[in-house]
Amino acid sequence: MEVTLRNTTKKLCIIGDPVSHSRSPILQNAMLRALGLDYVYLCQRVAKGDAQRWLECAAFCGYAGFNATMPHKQDLVPLMDELDPVAKRCGAVNTVCIKDGKYYGYNTDAGGFLRALEEIQVSPAGKRVLLLGAGGAAKAVTAALVEAGAAVTLANRTAEKARELCRMAPEQVRAVPFDDGTLRAQASESDLLVNCTCLGMAGTAEDFQDLGFLEALPSHAVVCDAIYAPPETSLLRRARELGHRTMNGEGMLLHQAVLALERFVDQPIDRAKAKAAALEAMGTLPA
Ligand code: NAP
Repeated sequence: MEVTLRNTTKKLCIIGDPVSHSRSPILQNAMLRALGLDYVYLCQRVAKGDAQRWLECAAFCGYAGFNATMPHKQDLVPLMDELDPVAKRCGAVNTVCIKDGKYYGYNTDAGGFLRALEEIQVSPAGKRVLLLGAGGAAKAVTAALVEAGAAVTLANRTAEKARELCRMAPEQVRAVPFDDGTLRAQASESDLLVNCTCLGMAGTAEDFQDLGFLEALPSHAVVCDAIYAPPETSLLRRARELGHRTMNGEGMLLHQAVLALERFVDQPIDRAKAKAAALEAMGTLPA
């Protein structure tokens, strides 16, 4: 991608380790170019434990902000001068703005997921949700669903992590075991199923061994996967074959990027134009 640099160009980036696989630079630079904003978005490897050092460097070097991926999302929380309520609830920051030497932390994954649902006309308010996983994506999606008024049942391979996540909102979130019998029983009472595990993700050998729990879902249930590569996981394919509406993780990825950009530039942006540019850029990416 062609990026024009001027002496006035403001710097943004993504930090993580590993980070070279990140799609954020391509998405963000495509949106910045489409909107005519004088920023450049880079990719910066920052090792675990170096978040504090990076914050000082970023402020010194005049970065306007950055996104964070593994392993920094949680480490950044106590380092922020201000945290938005969603980041506080998730215990994870994926977007940092730097203004006057102060650090402002946000979580746009949660809002990105809600917007993606909105786009397919699904409202989580009052819905029963079966959520698989308890890692970073699950935290953001749980926070989003709690905010939207859903009742969430968490099933995670490591049960303790699911129980820990329930503390976010014990009145709305509960944990159940991650076994075929339990998943089947819980699925039969769910309006929405969301996979936030890595199972089925491109580049990993692991996938669901038994998708029988999908057969127990009520026919109106919607099935979502946070995974966007491949575009249709085995979970989504089976759900589609069974007649369910499905949504992959592409919408969440796109919308979290648009929300982050709005924070960085601190002004309303033409979201439709930004999203179209990001979508076009995604189309140019290998799966
Ligand atoms: P993470 O923090 O490492 O969490 C991984 C989750 O997957 C944990 O719940 C883990 O369970 C579970 N898991 C891993 N291997 C498993 C197995 N063999 N059997 C059962 N469960 C297993 O990762 P993450 O950041 O949450 O990412 C999870 C997925 O969401 C990834 O595929 C990622 O690409 C996707 N994601 C998408 C977006 C988006 O914008 N669309 C954003 C973030 C993430 P344990 O706790 O037992 O280890």
